Amino acid sequence: MSKKQLLVTCDLTTEALALLRSQADLEVSFSKSRHPTPAEIQSAHALIIRSGTRLHKELLTKAKDLEFVVTATSGFDHIDLKTCQERQIRVSHCPEANVESAAQLTLSMILNALRQLPQLHQKVIKNHWRENIKRGKELTGMQLGVIGMGRIGRRVAQLAQAFQMTVVAHDPYVPAKDLQSVGVQPLGLIEVFKTSDIISFHVPLTSETKHMVNHRTLAHFNPEAWIINTSRGAVINETELAVKMRKGLFSGIALDVFEKEPLPKESPLRPQEKIVFSPHVGAYTEQAFAKASRQAAEKVISWFNKGQWTHRLPPEAEWAKYL
Ligand code: NAD
Repeated sequence: MSKKQLLVTCDLTTEALALLRSQADLEVSFSKSRHPTPAEIQSAHALIIRSGTRLHKELLTKAKDLEFVVTATSGFDHIDLKTCQERQIRVSHCPEANVESAAQLTLSMILNALRQLPQLHQKVIKNHWRENIKRGKELTGMQLGVIGMGRIGRRVAQLAQAFQMTVVAHDPYVPAKDLQSVGVQPLGLIEVFKTSDIISFHVPLTSETKHMVNHRTLAHFNPEAWIINTSRGAVINETELAVKMRKGLFSGIALDVFEKEPLPKESPLRPQEKIVFSPHVGAYTEQAFAKASRQAAEKVISWFNKGQWTHRLPPEAEWAKYL
């Protein structure tokens, strides 16, 4: 039997690569860039990609032998899943790999925003020491509102509880008793916006969550709130948020993700002083990279050796009908 061809378009750890290369029936090759050419993809039976590789319809139609794709990420906006379904190409993602990294970045953004660390860092660099600085805030006793109680939202809730925060959450797809069992009070979306000191988003981007922060919902937010988004940029209408901020609303914003990435020079968010930015690095740690590499390699091997297909895309969750 001829070997199965695996094309890899992203970095993998040496360990994951060794695991793949130890498979007698698998031939591993790398594309020249993150964007594979039709010639590179046409003989591939499987792909390992990350979000830098856009699997669009035109490219997928060239992939005559393709049966299995793994994205070593949790996000999957870069894959045309409809075309994959039509062509019976199975797609998997690695959503367990970056839970800890994304949750820890969220907590670090919350702490940075409440203690104004980026601004204080600039004071020291510019030799202004403690000139005109404001007192920060402790998390203890504050209410965190989590929107989306999936893998990352749950871990953020748990970490917040370790800081003795009260946690409330909105997730219509998780039974109220599941939230209560981890000490989290389920609330309606607007109720979370109204009552929380800090609101953190952990939802997938769907037609239901797109612009769930907009001029209408922003009217209900606690005007002193901090808004944190490490999920997907388009969950927030950035223009409408910037308008509210210019009017002096909200204590601070921390964003790792943006409607357009990289953040355009002309973004209405840029001149704002109260914002902490990071360049979409929720999963960008050595540990998440190692876990995602290993899990992606294992998924390819399980598919070819046992016909196993885990962490399927589109997800089998109820909310997936809004993708
Ligand atoms: P998950 O699928 O485990 O959880 C998502 C949760 O959102 C689910 O519980 C679901 O029921 C809930 N949800 C769906 N629609 C909702 C709605 N309309 N209102 C409220 N809740 C809703 O996903 P996850 O792994 O926890 O990831 C969460 C988000 O974080 C995703 O958007 C993912 O792409 C993003 N992410 C970003 C980074 C980064 O680098 N910043 C890293 C990892 C994940």
